[in-house]
Amino acid sequence: MEKNQEGITVKKNENFSEWFSQIVQKCELADLRYNVKGFLVFQPWSVLSMEKMYRHMEKTLQRKGHKPYWFPTVIPESNFKRESSHVKGFTPEVFWITQAGKAKLTERLALRPTSETAFYQMFELWIRSYKDLPFKTYQRAQVFRYETKATRPFLRSREFHWIETHCVHATEEDAFNQVKEDMETNKEVLHDIYGLPFIFFERPEWDKFAGASRTFASDVLNPDGKVIQQPSTHIISPSFAKAFNIKYKDKDGTDKPAHTTCYGPAISRIFASVIIVHGDDKGLKFPWEIAPVQVVIVPINQDEKIKKKAESIKKEIEDFAEVEIDNSEKRPGEKFNYWEMKGVPIRIDLGLKDLEKKKVTIFRRDTDEKIVVSEKDLIEEIKKISKEFTKNLTKKADKIFEGRIKNVSNLQEIKKTIEEGSIARVKFCSVGKDGEPCAEKIKKETEAEVRGTRLDEKEKPSGKCVICGRTAKEIVYIAKSY
Ligand SMILES: [Zn+2]
Repeated sequence: MEKNQEGITVKKNENFSEWFSQIVQKCELADLRYNVKGFLVFQPWSVLSMEKMYRHMEKTLQRKGHKPYWFPTVIPESNFKRESSHVKGFTPEVFWITQAGKAKLTERLALRPTSETAFYQMFELWIRSYKDLPFKTYQRAQVFRYETKATRPFLRSREFHWIETHCVHATEEDAFNQVKEDMETNKEVLHDIYGLPFIFFERPEWDKFAGASRTFASDVLNPDGKVIQQPSTHIISPSFAKAFNIKYKDKDGTDKPAHTTCYGPAISRIFASVIIVHGDDKGLKFPWEIAPVQVVIVPINQDEKIKKKAESIKKEIEDFAEVEIDNSEKRPGEKFNYWEMKGVPIRIDLGLKDLEKKKVTIFRRDTDEKIVVSEKDLIEEIKKISKEFTKNLTKKADKIFEGRIKNVSNLQEIKKTIEEGSIARVKFCSVGKDGEPCAEKIKKETEAEVRGTRLDEKEKPSGKCVICGRTAKEIVYIAKSY
């Protein structure tokens, strides 16, 4: 039934790009042969995992008071035109519908590249009074962007699967508190469940979302030293609420302009980080909570006694985990390699010899260890491993991430740090417009970017900007990015 018998043939740290494409194809995550450029077919092994990723994220958002909506995929052009910086920023990436049947449409419709202009025209109708605020929504949706950079499965494609939250607040302070809540959500879901280390930055003035007054984003590090921007949060510019006439009647009876925010965890893109951060030379490693299958039982031979045993163990595990039996014709060694490549957290090997001794062999993919347990302890042992599993993966990822952040103090050192695949932490003059020339100089010399200042910790430097020598007002992080 399975093709791609052969495992991963390159090392992740030696040829990351080839490793990634082998993972996508050999682990059957996506089929790239769909006949529209930049679009791909997601296969069951990635979909099952992403479904779980969605579930965890949506549950967390709902717990924090976000209500789910399903908005139309199409947005009329006139909505786009209501706010000028947004239309300018997004227009080059929009897919337009111009015709329906034989009729040319009187107004072009955009396939949503993001949905502010869809939500906001309804917010105008829905928000009346301070009592309606905060108004917290989200939707699970596909968005479409005509990417002109080279596309890459999961990381950058022209259609991606995401969640977008859109919120309306009474004050700017409430909007900023929402940003902090989003950062916390990132920690609870991306870090604690998906196992991804990140830094939550405020982006410099020159690197904001089209239509935002402040942009925040979390960067996750790749083994090749580039960072991937994962969920970002924006405090949307007041001009947006004004353009869409989103206002509310305050306690004192006066009309006040509302403040809006949005947060966009792109599940299919985060999935890329999950496979990249945790995977190794043998293949995938899924955190327990988002593994498509959590336990696989491999009967070493086709003995009836073993088959029966496999069935009874499966029944017991089904109560708390997704479990499968591999009854394929493959040799045991092939099965072992296959499931290790597919990243199933726990494998149970059932052989006659073990069984006679009332023992079972377990392989755990977090530590790549084989352990022998007595049959009666099997279920308890699996439950125990399931609780440690994601923590183990996360700890390892955290350690690598922290080790890749280097304090440096001149351009030469920045260059060296970037070349060795790390993130440079430096004293910097300003993340306002006046700091942009220094950032440009860094970009020119190293191809790396100033990613911003940390939001979770206030870092105040003493000393001078590493580039221009003016008084440093900020600590910034510099990295290459996708
Ligand atoms: Zn400077």
